[in-house]
Amino acid sequence: MAKKVKRIGVLTSGGDSSGMNPCIRAVVRTAIYHGLEVYGIRHGYQGLIDDDIKKMNTRSVSNIISRGGTILKTARCLEFKKKSVRKRGIANLEKHKIDGLVVIGGDGSFRGAEALYEEGGIKIIGLPGTIDNDIAGTDFTIGYDTAMNVAMEAIDKIRDTAASHDRIFFVEAMGRNAGALALSAGISAGAEEVLVPEVPTDIDALAKKLENGIKKGKTSSIVVVAEGDDAGNAFVVAKKVEEKTGLKSRVSVLGNMQRGGSPTAFERMLASRLGLAAVEGLLAGRSGVMAGLVAGKIKFSKIKKSSTAKKKISKELLNLDKILSI
Ligand code: ADP
Repeated sequence: MAKKVKRIGVLTSGGDSSGMNPCIRAVVRTAIYHGLEVYGIRHGYQGLIDDDIKKMNTRSVSNIISRGGTILKTARCLEFKKKSVRKRGIANLEKHKIDGLVVIGGDGSFRGAEALYEEGGIKIIGLPGTIDNDIAGTDFTIGYDTAMNVAMEAIDKIRDTAASHDRIFFVEAMGRNAGALALSAGISAGAEEVLVPEVPTDIDALAKKLENGIKKGKTSSIVVVAEGDDAGNAFVVAKKVEEKTGLKSRVSVLGNMQRGGSPTAFERMLASRLGLAAVEGLLAGRSGVMAGLVAGKIKFSKIKKSSTAKKKISKELLNLDKILSI
């Protein structure tokens, strides 16, 4: 029978997202509850290769459930793509006798985790942490719900000024190559149109829709543009529409505010459930897998799948947006 894990490490890697803190808290407390020792690795894989590794206790995670960001800090560590560098990381894990690792991050972080799992023989469980909600194997990623709420509230505020000045606003939302965040924030804030990378943008149709809106008595409009949209960023789209219609508009880029803020209740619950699942998964001998939430239940799937296959945008939500924004 495989050896049971005794000492685990936890790290956050790649883009930060709100909810990482409650997740770290859950990992640390579940580990201690089950009699394991737990080590925090700071600055993601950078800390792993630099041996920035510290023992944690239940108090290390006091009062962080409501805080955005990550107390363990995060980093992008391009060096980690090299096998020779990962070897240093594996050696540091061995030095601290860490035999299980929880990696909280996005698909890039999972590629690093996958390599560590294959080369180091260490037990690894990934937890999806990104505002983009683009990871296969989970309905929601840690950080998405909070980012969606932050973006929705920002768009609500932009709506106030748009309505007061009878203006068209192009609001840029984050999400890299995925439109999930832009789409859900746009639907929640009642945007007139949402442009996402997964659907080719038709500028003529957009221009017509905005002009028709004016004919129907609309005095202001909001178009949410996902940062990865094929037509360009919000400034480019605004210019193209202006050239076609002569309509003046304003642009607002939401930017990094979408990563921050106190995690929503949903986020805290998701992060806590996944954090516990990761530790109990390691204890049960699982490895090379990601814990996600599928149809309300914890589900483990191969980390390789989550690091390579992108989750598809929801057709149902695209249709909802189309119908409700007429
Ligand atoms: P995210 O995890 O949010 O997708 P990144 O794509 O920046 O963010 O990945 C985070 C980190 O994961 C990188 O800085 C690097 O340390 C590690 N990583 C990414 N891709 C690989 C890879 N192919 N092999 C090993 N490590 C990787």
